[in-house]
Amino acid sequence: MTKLRAMFARLSLASDGCLLAKLQVRPTLAQQTKEKQPLDGDLLKRIPQVEHGVKEDFDVDAKGILNFCGRLCVPQDEDLRQVILIEAHSSPYTIHPCRGKMYHDLRKIYWWLGLKRDVMDFVARCLACQKVKAEHHFPSSFPLTPLKKDSIWVKVDQFSKNVHFLAVRTNYSLYKLADLYIAKIVRLHGVPISIISDRDSHFISRF
Ligand SMILES: [Zn+2]
Repeated sequence: MTKLRAMFARLSLASDGCLLAKLQVRPTLAQQTKEKQPLDGDLLKRIPQVEHGVKEDFDVDAKGILNFCGRLCVPQDEDLRQVILIEAHSSPYTIHPCRGKMYHDLRKIYWWLGLKRDVMDFVARCLACQKVKAEHHFPSSFPLTPLKKDSIWVKVDQFSKNVHFLAVRTNYSLYKLADLYIAKIVRLHGVPISIISDRDSHFISRF
């Protein structure tokens, strides 16, 4: 059987500018899981149950390691569980899988009560995933008024800084907007000398 040990190299810059390489041997996650199992009282309790055939889905291998349906039972150790989640989601070798894929991959190897919920929480809290989700999210719109208006047309007088807010619909035609402009703005202030537009597609499109 191959040794379940991994080697990690850590590079750092010393004060004299020399590059220091520090080699570190640390157990793999599977090995850590096995080593920490005896520290979890709940898992330990299951071993005699398995031996008495009470828990058929669990089994204990020749080394005394508890498995559930062939998956390693991860003890209740928050640090270890976090490292397992990070390794499966945001390590340098993973590309932020979605929660479904992450759970699917993890459950092939590991088992603990609440694994699925922990995966959901972990992905929901991942800042990188939240940012990507926000960038792909459809821009939110205003709630509709009773007359189904869904946007606000803003007009500012350049000199007086008077502002008018008109509730409109995004699908209003240019003619409809022109009528509205006359009714609500020209009626109060007269015809403007010039209009500076934000070049909204309503005003610059040709149909
Ligand atoms: Zn992520």
